[in-house]
Amino acid sequence: MKITRLTTYRVAPRWMFLKIETDEGIVGWGEPVVEGRARSVEAAVAEIGELLIGQDPARINDHWQTMYRGGFYRGGAVFMSAIAGIDQALWDIKGKALGVPVYQLLGGLVRDRMKTYCWVGGDRPADIIEQIRSRVALGFDTFKMNACEELSLLDSSRAIDAAVAKVAEIRSVFGNSIEFGLDFHGRVGWPMAKTLIRELEPYRPLFIEEPVLAEQAEYYPRLAAHTAIPLAAGERMYSRFEFKNVLHAGGLAIVQPDLSHAGGISECMKIAAMAEAYDVALAPHCPLGPIALASCLHVDFVSWNAMLQEQSIGIHYNADGELLDYVINKDAFDLENGCVRPFTLPGLGVEIDEAHVIERSKRAGDWRNPLWRHRDGSVAEW
Ligand SMILES: [Mg+2]
Repeated sequence: MKITRLTTYRVAPRWMFLKIETDEGIVGWGEPVVEGRARSVEAAVAEIGELLIGQDPARINDHWQTMYRGGFYRGGAVFMSAIAGIDQALWDIKGKALGVPVYQLLGGLVRDRMKTYCWVGGDRPADIIEQIRSRVALGFDTFKMNACEELSLLDSSRAIDAAVAKVAEIRSVFGNSIEFGLDFHGRVGWPMAKTLIRELEPYRPLFIEEPVLAEQAEYYPRLAAHTAIPLAAGERMYSRFEFKNVLHAGGLAIVQPDLSHAGGISECMKIAAMAEAYDVALAPHCPLGPIALASCLHVDFVSWNAMLQEQSIGIHYNADGELLDYVINKDAFDLENGCVRPFTLPGLGVEIDEAHVIERSKRAGDWRNPLWRHRDGSVAEW
């Protein structure tokens, strides 16, 4: 079998799908994207994809190394997301060629179902109680929300109080019947992170995500030393080499590699195994589309330390396109008490509605993340 063509489709809400075709008619789908930088990744896929034309798609390990080490300059969000989507599509082809789901090729199931959680509250946390209530009715018991709006390096006690009051209200309404993680979203710097984490501790969030930016990862062990709340990070780390450094330094209880940013299934399997060696849980990041989510789930289904799977159904970003819009076999994503069952179709197990993808790609907009500014006019982290 030989790879004949790579085609990318940018689609709403802010995603990109990749189709890899072969001379035997088997097609694989991947989801290479950086949210807000889809065109940059599209260019990287086109450039890196040249290496694959005429090659045997079965040699995924060799292709991965060629895509990574074959470029003198490597790593980072754009290149690693391009590799990630290509890698997903190659696993899809391999599974379809051999007639088995990808998790079978990765050694087989380690669990019967995978727990997922959903987002509530949006960019600026609001209406959280009502949103949680409606999703509890659907069977969810685990949630994630932004902990705060923009926060400056030295912000006021009022800002801290506002963040803490929202969390206190959730616990007072729902008690221990639900769990929730709090995403600091890189909005909190080291000087405020210490205080905010301390103030949130009585409400026992399941985890705090990106307590400070990955650029300040040296603070993870120092923050962890002062709190019992598990700390999570990883959506802005792109390779086993970056995860090696944070795992070695300690402090994180949960790593959150993104299957569409951190080199794909091949790389995230290695990151998952490395995390297990450190007794660190895996909770893949995934506010993306169906192929990215399926890729996460295949890794979850074979990784003992996979604890929670993020998924984007109903997330605040999906205003003009939803995960299931592009899928023919929608029942593969049926949730039972918030859990997904292993897919049964060969490959990644997602039947992409190609006609719909092509149609939507003709009028895809260019999503950009909001640009926030502090009251003094300086740029704020979003
Ligand atoms: Mg996050």
